[in-house]
Formats: sequence, C-alpha cells, structure tokens
Amino acid sequence: MLLRDYQLRIVLPECNFSAEKVNAIVRLSEDISEVLPYLNRTLKGLHYIDQSKILTVKMEGHLVTFRPKEIAITKLEDEKEAREVMEKLKRMINETYENRNQIEPDYTSAKELKSADVIKLLPNTNCKECGERSCFAFAYKLLRHETTIRKCHSLFSGKYEDKKKALLNLLSSSGYDTDIFDGSN
Ligand code: SF4
Repeated sequence: MLLRDYQLRIVLPECNFSAEKVNAIVRLSEDISEVLPYLNRTLKGLHYIDQSKILTVKMEGHLVTFRPKEIAITKLEDEKEAREVMEKLKRMINETYENRNQIEPDYTSAKELKSADVIKLLPNTNCKECGERSCFAFAYKLLRHETTIRKCHSLFSGKYEDKKKALLNLLSSSGYDTDIFDGSN
C-alpha cells in the first residue's frame, strides 16, 4: 500500500466566499509522486507537470489536483462528500500503484488552453457585465477556474450562438465546468 493515511480540511473557494460548494485540501501521510504518471494515464489527466509532479484531472464533476503530498478537490457539497471522494481516491491510488507494472506511465500533458483561445470566442465588447474590467480579464479568470462561463451574460443573450457553442465545446473538452449551463439560453 502506498497511501496509508491523510488529513482533510474544508476550505471555501478563494474567489467566492458565499459559494454553496466547498473545496477540500488533503495532506497525505506518504509521498505519491511515483504513482502520478500512472494516474495520468488511467485518469486521462487534463494537465500534468512531471518536473514538479502536479497532476490535475476531472472526476465526477470535481477538479482534483494531485501533488506529491497533497490533494485538492473542488466543488464538494460538504465534508461528508469530501471524505467519500477522498476514500475513492485513496483506493484508486493504491490499486494503481499495485498494478503499475501493467500500466504504461504517461509523462506528457494534454494541450493547455490559452487565453487567446477563449478570447476569440467571447463577445469582445468589454461590457463588464461579468464583473471583470474586460473580456481579457474574464478569460484569464475563467482559465484559472476563478469564474464561470455563465457570468458572461452577453454570450448567452442569443446574439452569439456560434461563439457560445464553440466556447462551450472547447471548455468542456478541456475539462472546464460548463454543466451549470441549462441549454435554455
Ligand atoms: S460579460 Fe462577456 S462580453 Fe462582457 S466583458 Fe465580460 S466577458 Fe466580455
């Protein structure tokens, strides 16, 4: 067994203290660096930096970031759900570690989205309705998971259907949350 124990604490998202969802930061009792390239393969990692051993994956609506001695999990209902997700992750880490001889490690990272990819699909009116001073600032925060696409009301106004569809596809295929979009706009 690689991972034996952990300590979990619940934190509010940095960007929104009134958010209904919470995040969890989990301190690990063991260093899990060795298993990360194998998890990158089996979980189809969104981003992986082999040099610093940081792996981000999307799992059941949560973004999970693995570091050598820490795991961060986003969008949780409460501590109970955080503990359930963490128990799953612990099992997954240990099973992957035990089976690592049968898995080809993946040291590469999926293509990272750039602000330019997002900006060209925004309305580009700099209307500030999203609460940001420009579309550029909004795109920057969006890629850091500090805001959500729904805050760009202009995009959902009906005037930018092609851009909206293309941007939602791009974001969801790159692991960003678009699930709050109800399709009625
Ligand atoms: S609401 Fe949309 S169009 Fe307006 S500034 Fe924000 S990102 Fe740009």
